[in-house]
Amino acid sequence: MARMSVFHHACTVPLARAIHARAMSVACSGTATVTAPSLNKKKEDPQVLLGMSEQDLQQLALDFGQQSYRGKQLHHLLYKRKVKEIQDFSHLPLAFRNELQDAGWRVGRSSVHKAVTAADGTVKLLVKLEDNRLVETVGIPVKDDKGSVRLTACVSSQVGCPLRCSFCATGKGGFSRNLKKHEIVEQVLAIEELFKQRVTNVVFMGMGEPMLNMKEVLEAHRCLNKDIQIGQRMITISTVGVPNTIKKLASYKLQSTLAISLHAPNQKLREKIVPSAKSYPLDAIMKDCRDYFHETSRRVSFEYTLLAGVNDAVEHAKELAELLLKWGPGYHVNLIPYNPIEGSEYKRPYKKSVLAFSTALESRKITVSVRQTRGLDASAACGQLRNEFQKTPLLSGAEDQQSQSELLVVA
Ligand code: SF4
Repeated sequence: MARMSVFHHACTVPLARAIHARAMSVACSGTATVTAPSLNKKKEDPQVLLGMSEQDLQQLALDFGQQSYRGKQLHHLLYKRKVKEIQDFSHLPLAFRNELQDAGWRVGRSSVHKAVTAADGTVKLLVKLEDNRLVETVGIPVKDDKGSVRLTACVSSQVGCPLRCSFCATGKGGFSRNLKKHEIVEQVLAIEELFKQRVTNVVFMGMGEPMLNMKEVLEAHRCLNKDIQIGQRMITISTVGVPNTIKKLASYKLQSTLAISLHAPNQKLREKIVPSAKSYPLDAIMKDCRDYFHETSRRVSFEYTLLAGVNDAVEHAKELAELLLKWGPGYHVNLIPYNPIEGSEYKRPYKKSVLAFSTALESRKITVSVRQTRGLDASAACGQLRNEFQKTPLLSGAEDQQSQSELLVVA
């Protein structure tokens, strides 16, 4: 896509006592900075505590005439105690709570509109945002050999998605807007609350293209890592490929995994499956991935959805191996047998095709994993559950579609 899009969000601090005349910046993995709430905010933007760093919360406390340790308490209440309402911040003086509320501050947690549990324990949530829009988030518990449970949260980064990959339920459901950092972070907290345990892994593989919302995704990443204490290596950012963004992401030197949704071993087939690939040739993506590996020393993972009769032949596997070997070491392929969605022309591949495909890759020294399909009975494909509810959408079509002309070009 020649012109790719990202919204630039801002929070606001309109009341005199809450104003602090400095541009706060949030260290992102110690190397790059992402601008946090500043003075140049639109008045109508929400003032949300969730997503703020300890340093910012301390400054906020000072701005309200409190001592800075009140900011540490706020941090504890938000991220350890996971309190959802300012009035329930019982550690804080009532007067401070009231002042925060009167100044328009809120925690920034949304309600869960619907939760669907599959037989294997996977839970898909529909989170209802402040503007009544719905996003999906999925909690995936996996028991390891020692009996301890790893809990992965698969989070959304946008409401819907503008990229319209041909096999994807989210793409078919249309695009509304980017999520703000707290709307990403709260998905993880909602999963923790539901499972009553800590999330160990986060994958940005839910609704939306994270690289079209990079600023908020990076700020959410900072919060998940520094405030909620999920290791960077436990976080995966997945992209279908947006020009100029892999390079930009590499410059932050995150220790998280970059996953590229490839789905085809050549440009022609890829364009059929992923229409946005027209603007980002395969060779350019592979070069950016090689540079990403050199810059971060982090292995790039390739996601490959197997569509029966489309991209699942052994010949495709051989071509994929050739492509990956041409661009260097450090690659891993994650095969995803397609999850059928209503109205799609694609079909789920046979088990023997999946096995033949992975064997062909392995015999060419490519490391492979096959993603176990989880929660098939809980509308497992990304966007499916939301689409079911959007058949009777909470908003009218006109309200729900943000104008593409509002999209800005990625720097
Ligand atoms: S697969 Fe990902 S990038 Fe493609 S339409 Fe779906 S959500 Fe968007």
